[in-house]
Amino acid sequence: MTITTCTVDLIEQLTPTVNRVLLTPAQAVNFSSGQYLQLCLSDSDKRPFSIASTPAQQQLELHIGGAVADQYASQALAHLLQQHQLQQPVRAEIGLGQAQFRADSERPIILLAGGTGFSYVYSIAQSIAAARLDRPVFFYWGVREQAALYHHAVMQQWAAQNTKYRFVPVVQQPDDNWQGRSGMVHQAVLEDFVSLEAYDIYVAGPFAMAGVVRDAFIEQGAHREHMFADAFAYI
Ligand SMILES: Cc1cc2nc3c(=O)[nH]c(=O)nc-3n(C[C@H](O)[C@H](O)[C@H](O)COP(=O)(O)OP(=O)(O)OC[C@H]3O[C@@H](n4cnc5c(N)ncnc54)[C@H](O)[C@@H]3O)c2cc1C
Repeated sequence: MTITTCTVDLIEQLTPTVNRVLLTPAQAVNFSSGQYLQLCLSDSDKRPFSIASTPAQQQLELHIGGAVADQYASQALAHLLQQHQLQQPVRAEIGLGQAQFRADSERPIILLAGGTGFSYVYSIAQSIAAARLDRPVFFYWGVREQAALYHHAVMQQWAAQNTKYRFVPVVQQPDDNWQGRSGMVHQAVLEDFVSLEAYDIYVAGPFAMAGVVRDAFIEQGAHREHMFADAFAYI
């Protein structure tokens, strides 16, 4: 883990409630795809955010927010905005968590994101593509409304790069124009895989989702030791 200051280079809206943030650390940082950082609002108030970028990239990318604007995200964002306007750095602890990508496994991969849990699996998906790993990857992204699929086009492009990649967006409450999958994202996985025994499974999203996924997937054959989610430590 590296504790350092970072300049806030960019804050831009991805949806009305989700923002993309780019930070440049003051020193070299060590982290793996799938790890998170803690943004230090004060010495006692540190908030975890998944790192959406990969270790190969110079800037750290965060996706902050959720379907419902809450204080967890809005206070972190207010701090980032304030420091950005004052041209002052923020403090962060970078490279935390145990749910990082396991590149040495040969098992096929399921990446499962709920809402801004996308950030976590996006980093892993980019690392898989950059390393040209020859493993099937099934990327499921569940959101409440299709407007929350802020990187839909990017992910379609990612899937188009490799016949072994599949991207499945799942909208919980779709409108009449939606032609894709609907309902809860973990249900889509349960429908698509008779058994989850063979897979490495990476999960991020609301804590309630992580709990449901852990139990339902194990019941459908997943091995607990092949399921990775930092949320499991919180539930
Ligand atoms: C280590 C760590 C990292 C974090 N990283 C971030 C981050 O990068 N950015 C951030 O903003 N916050 C982060 N958080 C905080 C928190 O996890 C997010 O605020 C939360 O995931 C946001 O969810 P959402 O509102 O986007 O999802 P929602 O819109 O609430 O849900 C999206 C989808 O998830 C599924 N889902 C939701 N609830 C359930 C349920 N009860 N059962 C089954 N499926 C369900 C559904 O398919 C739904 O459509 C992090 C927390 C921790 C501990």
